[in-house]
Order: sequence, then C-alpha cells, then structure tokens
Amino acid sequence: MNFLRMTSVLIGLLLVMPAVPLAAEDSQTAAWEAGFSKVVITPAEPMFLSGYGGRNKPAEGKAGELYARAAALKSPSGKRVVFVATDLIGIPAKMAKFVCDAAAEKHGLERADIMLTCSHTHCGPALDDELSHMMAIPDAEWEKIRKNQAALNAKLIKLIDDALQDLKPARLATGIGKAEFAANRRPPIGVGPIDHEVPVLRITSADGGQLRGVIFGYACHCTVMSFYKWWGDYAGEACQFLEERHPGATALFFAGCGADQNPLPRRKLELGVKYGRMLATAVEKVLDSEMTPLTGELTTAFRTIDLTFQRIPDKAELESQLQSDSPYAARRARRLLHRLETEGTLSAIYPLPVQVWKFGDQLTWVALGGEVVVDYSLRLKRELVPGKTWVTGYANDVMCYIPSERVLSEGGYEGASSMIPYQQPSPWAPGLEQKIVDMVHQLAK
Ligand SMILES: [Zn+2]
Repeated sequence: MNFLRMTSVLIGLLLVMPAVPLAAEDSQTAAWEAGFSKVVITPAEPMFLSGYGGRNKPAEGKAGELYARAAALKSPSGKRVVFVATDLIGIPAKMAKFVCDAAAEKHGLERADIMLTCSHTHCGPALDDELSHMMAIPDAEWEKIRKNQAALNAKLIKLIDDALQDLKPARLATGIGKAEFAANRRPPIGVGPIDHEVPVLRITSADGGQLRGVIFGYACHCTVMSFYKWWGDYAGEACQFLEERHPGATALFFAGCGADQNPLPRRKLELGVKYGRMLATAVEKVLDSEMTPLTGELTTAFRTIDLTFQRIPDKAELESQLQSDSPYAARRARRLLHRLETEGTLSAIYPLPVQVWKFGDQLTWVALGGEVVVDYSLRLKRELVPGKTWVTGYANDVMCYIPSERVLSEGGYEGASSMIPYQQPSPWAPGLEQKIVDMVHQLAK
C-alpha cells in the first residue's frame, strides 16, 4: 500500500469511527430504548419574567430561546420513564399534576415514572403559581401569564408523547465530571459548602456510534443576569453548545441542590456563555472517558412528606402586615388573606415530593421538590453510595426553599426570609432535614 493510499484508508477509518469511545462497553448489547423530544417554550408575546420580585414590566426581547426537552427511557424489562427538563423558574404543583395526569391517561405512566425538572433560570416566564405573587403584576398581565401557562401545559404533554414515540434501541452509561464556577452565596460569600460534581447520563444508539442524548446536572442558581430578556442562562448555553457539537443529540440539564449557590462573578452576559462552556466542557470530558454502562433493572418510587411550618398567622396579624413597609411582606399578607378567605384556613403543612429512580445498584437518582440547599446532596451522596448517587433539586414542585437544619437555624434568605416571596406563612419547623433524608433512604431501598 503506498503512502497516499494508506493515508486515504486511515482518513476513511477515522471518518467511520464512532464519535464516542466504547471501551469496556463494547460487549454490551443494547437492551434499553430511548426517545427524545424538544420544544421551544419562549412566550409568543412580551409578558412578565420571573426570578426577581422587583420585576415591574414585561420582557423586552430575548438573548436566547427557551426550551423544554424530554428523554423517554425503556428498560430491558419494558419499564418506561420520562425525564423532562425545562428552562423555567420552577415547576408549579398544578402544572405537574395536569401534565402527569395526562401522561397517566394517555400512556399508563405512574406518577413515579415522570420526573419534571427545571433549570431555575431567572429569565424565564412568570408562571401561574404562588411565587409570581411576589411581583406587583397588573391584571392584564396576569391574563397573559394564565394563557401562557395553558399553552405550556399543552406543550409539555405533547413533549412526553413525542419522546415516547421516538423510543429506539439505545445504550446508557453514566459518569461524573466537575465544574467549578458555583460559589456558596451565603455570607461570608464563597466560604460555605459547595458541590461541583457534574453527573452525566450518556445515551447512544444501539451500536454505540451515535450520541442521541445526554442528561447532566449542576448545583448552582441560573442567575447570571437579571435583565428583561428571555434566556436559559448558563444551563441553556451549555445545552446549546452540546447540541451544536453533537448534531442530532438532545442535551437535557437539571438543577442540583444549588439553592445556596450562585455563579460568581456574574451580571455580564459573556460570563453566562463562559459558564455554559465550562459546564459543557465538563460534560464532554465525561462523554470522552470510560463510563459505567447501565445494565441493572430500573425501579421508581414517588412519595410526598408533610413538612410543617413554624407557625400560622391569624387574620388580625395578616391584616396588620398589609401596612408593612416591605412591599413583599404586604403582598404576602394580601395573598394569605385571600387564601384564608377562599380556602377557609391556612394549612400548617406542605407536601414535599420525593422521587427516586434506581438503575440497579449502579445509580440511585434522587429528585427533591423545592429549592434545595447543597447540604442535602452532600449528605445523601455520603449516606447512599458515593459516586453512584445523584441529587436533583427543583423537581416536581417548587414551593419554596428547602433549607438543611444548619441553614434553617442560621436563618437568612434561604433559611427564613425567602418564605415571603414564596407566599408561605412562616419558615419551616425544625426537623425537616431528617424527615427528608429518612424518606429518601426508605424509597432507595
Ligand atoms: Zn432560587
């Protein structure tokens, strides 16, 4: 073989080589199936954004498109689950119920088989939920919010349909990377605990040659910017970067336990792009490494735990708070009085959703509702199986912050005052951390 011919054969070989190294996974036969779907959820008309209580006008254009993406997985024994990732501030409980009821009726999926998550981008639309009441929103704008919510609910139902329709033989493998731009934001800033792990689930075609999808997470707020433009923040940038690098693949991001973590420094668009690249690069590094093939059986569990508020204010107390110097406290008082009037009472408890997906003994994937502080992921990873445990926050319902016992006793924003923008009656009563951890252990068994 002459040199030129050898070169062309080598180039030919390089061209047909799989994009993803298979290493030890070569011998695995594809018994899984996977399907993907993606839909633009950028609101069609200018409307209120969420994320900051001081927002006082509708969006003025976009810095990027907002998406919802879904990955349907079917295990070797035929169990189907759907993971949904959205460029939204939260997951309203009403939205979750509506979407999951439809998926149960259409596809026979149990509640435990659907994981609804969000990136917690602060440049997404205001949702029809309690958090939106932190802002002074005119009635005409509320109309738009409710209309957009209905459109969003319908899109998510179709997204799940489409992902299930797309099921094809696939291989699954996991690994964990690292990205270091999240900082603990509680004072003194940068000193408290952090979780820089980047969990990655790689989904390839049956022959392993084509990357079809990647699910990854990171424990950090999507708060690089506070402008009036639609934007998926660093998470949206990371997904876009990965999808451009791997044409045909779908990249799905979930927020980890980053309630007390911020991307620092921030407030420059290019920093968001940079953090997106850093995160995508961390994912790429895992994709290029030897990953652990998932071969175990998939099981799912979903329960709610009743968490208790410290105290419930009475009508007279709420009426006096209407005169508060803080517009946020006054708005909460008005909202709670409205609830008291329409529902007759203010509940002393709130049901927190806890979900666990187990992939044999290779991966335990925990999904907790609310804005969960980093102590939970560090503790659960330590107490379950280190290196084989993922903890997703902001899943299935985002009703307020979920402080650890440490953060609750310290107070501050995540421990106490954030209950005001979330329209909750008071901070949580002590004891919530152990209740949540016990429930995770129970579901993980
Ligand atoms: Zn937050």
